[in-house]
Amino acid sequence: MPELPEVETLCRQLRGVIADREILSVKILDPRLGAVDGLVGRKITAITRQGKALEIKLDNDARLLLHLRMTGKMEWQSASRALPPHTRFIIAFSHGRLLCIDPRRFATLVITADGSSQAFVKDPLHDFRIEELHKIARVKKLPVKSFLMDQRLIAGIGNIYACEILHEVSMSPWRPVCGVSLREWRKIERATKEILEKAITCRGTTVSDWRDLFGQKGEYQHELKVYDREGLSCLRCHGIIQRLRLSGRGTYFCPTCQRR
Ligand SMILES: [Zn+2]
Repeated sequence: MPELPEVETLCRQLRGVIADREILSVKILDPRLGAVDGLVGRKITAITRQGKALEIKLDNDARLLLHLRMTGKMEWQSASRALPPHTRFIIAFSHGRLLCIDPRRFATLVITADGSSQAFVKDPLHDFRIEELHKIARVKKLPVKSFLMDQRLIAGIGNIYACEILHEVSMSPWRPVCGVSLREWRKIERATKEILEKAITCRGTTVSDWRDLFGQKGEYQHELKVYDREGLSCLRCHGIIQRLRLSGRGTYFCPTCQRR
């Protein structure tokens, strides 16, 4: 599932391709998406990220909010080629077309007046609101990993990066979040920024199907310290990385240096 670095990658790539361009046509191929009217003839004025969603702003101030969910991908075709399987919609421009490809059909595309993220921390890259977040966490008993991944609290962190962040700060994913001190929150903040920023420069993590706008794999899978490394030795302490389920998600951790 695309997380913050993958969506940010798409966002930056889309800016280079469709900013200031006029939409010539829109074709919805999957009726589950519903009708999306009023796009033809509009010019794209801005492309931003809201957590894990892409927000495309139009010259009439409407916003097109695209959430890729589980398996959604965006692909740019500058010359018309055959449509890949599972293409769900096409937005055409004079210099090429933008496709959304989504085998599991969970991606959503809506026009909205206000697309801004509802999360408490809207952008963990720039504004972690650490003291307020610490106060919220102090009265919650859920595991710290579930807290980091709660999109109502922090926008953009999913399973891969939550595992990496907690390994970086040597914290057990099961640690009740109420016991995380302000000092530890500052470490989490620093690790989150470093990891997400590095992942953006690597254009995301391809461990299964993530591809960028031009069909290329990301590079951050080569930087992973714990995710997808079950049975391998920890790069910090030489413990053996384990994978256990936490709230239904495969959670990778080092039982030696992430004991508490
Ligand atoms: Zn370790």
